[in-house]
Amino acid sequence: MPGACRLSIGDGTKHTQHRMTIEMKLAQYSMGIGDRFGHQGQAQLAAFVRAAQQGLHVVPVWNKSNREHLIVHSQPAAVRQEADAAVQALHWSAGYHVDADHIGLKTVDRFLGVSDFFTIDVADFIAEPAAADAVDALIASMAAIGERPAIAGLTQPLLLTPQRIAEIAGKYLVAVQEAGRVYRHIEKHKGRGNFITEVSMDETDRSQTPVDLLVILAALAQEGIPVQTIAPKFTGRFNKGVDYQGDLRQFEQEFNDDLAVVAFAVQHFRLPADLKLSVHSGSDKFSIYEPIRRALGLWHAGLHLKTAGTTWLEEIAALAAAGDDGLSLARDIYAAALARFDELCGPYASVIDIDRAALPGGPQVQAWTGTRFAAAIRHDPADSRYNPSLRQLLHVGYKLAAEAGERYTRLLDKYASAVGAEVTANLFTRHLLRIFPAAESHQDHGGHRG
Ligand SMILES: [Zn+2]
Repeated sequence: MPGACRLSIGDGTKHTQHRMTIEMKLAQYSMGIGDRFGHQGQAQLAAFVRAAQQGLHVVPVWNKSNREHLIVHSQPAAVRQEADAAVQALHWSAGYHVDADHIGLKTVDRFLGVSDFFTIDVADFIAEPAAADAVDALIASMAAIGERPAIAGLTQPLLLTPQRIAEIAGKYLVAVQEAGRVYRHIEKHKGRGNFITEVSMDETDRSQTPVDLLVILAALAQEGIPVQTIAPKFTGRFNKGVDYQGDLRQFEQEFNDDLAVVAFAVQHFRLPADLKLSVHSGSDKFSIYEPIRRALGLWHAGLHLKTAGTTWLEEIAALAAAGDDGLSLARDIYAAALARFDELCGPYASVIDIDRAALPGGPQVQAWTGTRFAAAIRHDPADSRYNPSLRQLLHVGYKLAAEAGERYTRLLDKYASAVGAEVTANLFTRHLLRIFPAAESHQDHGGHRG
């Protein structure tokens, strides 16, 4: 990577300043994992162990959002305990983190003691009007890169007039300022350089274009946030637990352009050298894994992929397949999910698309064997029994398993090896192996250095 001293855009002058100091680095490849009920720590980590044995080194990041904690009534400390215990049991020595996922000023405090990774979610502050002098300061800070920055590898050259910057700042500057407040609050408690900072703007309706991303990164640099992962909203639908919906070609072009912008921002703004993109709701997006993997190889870029709910779906599929008391619990949860459809789907409305007509009725599912039920849940697009609407409904139905309490967790214990095997195989085969490029060749394929 380039040296530590770069031109600063901090005040628009051309003297050299030091890059923001970061002691805690994030590995090139990392993947967010998590399970609702804290039973699959080792099974999840086993997937990373298997990958490492094949030369694919990915760092696990246990993540659980505040929303999820509230729904299952769990505490952030339990995630730290689960991660530490799994790491000890499997003698994992390659690094791991515990992510306070989607937090803001109001929710961050109970994560401060146990997390070393913070996903600052400022999507709610998008489109709030920014003060004119702040917009002017941002425009001045970007003057050094010019109105036509030469960003290698971009599909189309960017035009960054002061008006264009002001327009984009009008959407995102207040959100970035809020991220600054949250960042400084965390820094005050944890100390500078002792944690990883992610900024997320993904839970919003409108996607962010590469030029939006460039202005957002400039604003984050100006705000003094040493952001290491950034989660923009990409084009297309990232529904929970099912495949990507959207224009694959457009996604691939946008993803490559985003990588070009990140590489440029690292060189020209005072941002950490390990800054990379973070893809949220990243589990099960099988159709974009190949384009992402190609792009990462081309750019020698890093990636953080967030998954979590996919593991709960493997639990419920494995319990259904186990038959007997596992199957009857899975049937009960599905029947209750049908009855409480609106309540369960409400908080996730922007990230699910369920076709109600495609949902089998309760009596029909009562008649299914465990094998049949598991096939409807499991994400195997080649299996005609797979039902993405049913899968999404169960995805948001984890609240019902939480309500089942011990009845559910006792079954997780009873069928631990069958459930664990599904959890490991899902993360290893369907995710880790598909999305991350095999061992880096360190050859120049043209990418950003071309
Ligand atoms: Zn997210």
